[in-house]
Amino acid sequence: MKIIDTHTHMNEERLYKDRIHIYQKAIENGVVKVINNADTFESYQPINDLAQEFPSFCYSAIGIFPTAGSGNLNEDLLKLEDGLNSVHNLVAVGEIGLDYHMDNSKETKQKQKELFNAQIKVAEKHQLPLIIHSRDAEADTFNVLIDSGFEGNVTLHCFSGSFQMALRYLRHKKNIYFGIGGVLTFKNAQRLVEVIQRVPEDHFVLETDAPFLTPEPFRGKLNEPANVTYVLEKMAEILHKDKEQLADEIYQRSLKIYGIHE
Ligand SMILES: [Zn+2]
Repeated sequence: MKIIDTHTHMNEERLYKDRIHIYQKAIENGVVKVINNADTFESYQPINDLAQEFPSFCYSAIGIFPTAGSGNLNEDLLKLEDGLNSVHNLVAVGEIGLDYHMDNSKETKQKQKELFNAQIKVAEKHQLPLIIHSRDAEADTFNVLIDSGFEGNVTLHCFSGSFQMALRYLRHKKNIYFGIGGVLTFKNAQRLVEVIQRVPEDHFVLETDAPFLTPEPFRGKLNEPANVTYVLEKMAEILHKDKEQLADEIYQRSLKIYGIHE
């Protein structure tokens, strides 16, 4: 059995300092690859270091998180270009998108949309897939992405929308994927369970978002890539599928989405 954790942050200090153990535990559990997603400019360096230290395990997504922009778009885009041109094992632009959770003022929304749009263009130029973060911004995320006409593969990381929202995406974009993580194991995951039951399953990928969103039975503790197996188990249970078969299908799909060669 092979699994890719398509969205994680091993660069985060709490995981980075324990990276050897985290790597070993992942491998023991069949988690043979992870994609570390940038969430700050400072994260580019440890993400690159990890890709060099674990060249067949750690892959890199580089981007500007919706709330990480400095306010100077051109300067930020130059830093992004630097990152994209220098980081090892680059497989996506991410995580980028919209996050209105802390501030939903008109001005902030406008700035975030500009940053998001600009990065979609950068991904187009580099012919890289997108990994999207969306929080309290469902309608705007949909509109910016679809209006951009972006043709590459797109993953909506930690998808939290309804079944109807997922279908709306699918009607407008064939190569859209839904990142499914620890939330699926929570007791109140009814909406996500419905997504798993009703959306065509060739649109799912697995993720942890570690160190955040720890699945049951470890909710509240520090998350790590090895825990993606609990998400897989839950998904297999909902779909009434063999766990190993499901894992292999998702693994092959994930390699294709991110252009990873084994
Ligand atoms: Zn993340």
